[in-house]
Amino acid sequence: MFKDFQIDLKQYGLQLDDYQNKQFERYYEILIEGNEKTNLTGIVEKIDVYTKHFLDSIVICKYLNKNSSLIDIGTGAGFPAVPIKIVRPDIEICMVDSVLKKIDFLQTLNQSLQIKSELIHARAEDLAKTRREKYDYCVSRAVANMSTLCEYCLPFVKIGGYFIAYKSENIEEELQKSLSAIKILGGKIEKVEEMVLPNDAGKRKLIFIKKVSATPKIFPRGKNKPRIEPL
Ligand code: SAM
Repeated sequence: MFKDFQIDLKQYGLQLDDYQNKQFERYYEILIEGNEKTNLTGIVEKIDVYTKHFLDSIVICKYLNKNSSLIDIGTGAGFPAVPIKIVRPDIEICMVDSVLKKIDFLQTLNQSLQIKSELIHARAEDLAKTRREKYDYCVSRAVANMSTLCEYCLPFVKIGGYFIAYKSENIEEELQKSLSAIKILGGKIEKVEEMVLPNDAGKRKLIFIKKVSATPKIFPRGKNKPRIEPL
């Protein structure tokens, strides 16, 4: 339970019932079991999983509109999408990863937690061709630098929606370098929210990029160009 680790959820605008607390307990067990077969996370101590994976993923929840849609690019072992879905079952979630073993793990996890979310094994660049401007929110954590990430993520967002990037404290230089990419791709930085995580887990910055105009059809580029030659 979060309270076993001195995590005061109210401070983050959050409150969980017994069922949600049990879902997080089960998630922890399945993550540790799954980690023996598939490389899912280097963070295994329970206090660290609760702070650096679970809490870190859900700090976004108070900003999300009711009954909205959200896509998580490069979700890995389900972060941040699965914790968001536990806290906010009203949100329609799609999770994407390019590694099949991670999608297989998420299928087992979703069944066990009785969570209904769409799971897609694909590269973001390919999926963006068929899912353009379909989601209220796109989120991504620990996948790429801001310029690359914007090219992966902004195509999925409806005009008026947001791409919200999970970034660490020292993001200024990376953010500055991505300004022209954000503009080209139809985005505009609206705000940066900073929060302190307990148990010496450091600070988290959420970068809110509003989709203000359509992303030109040539993006995202193929052949790994978003990573090799970021805009
Ligand atoms: N978001 C998770 C987290 O915060 O723990 C996983 C982070 S892990 C370091 C990066 C994940 O992004 C990997 O699972 C990888 O397979 C996935 N990934 C990287 N590039 C991708 C792409 N272009 N499309 C889809 N998934 C991608």
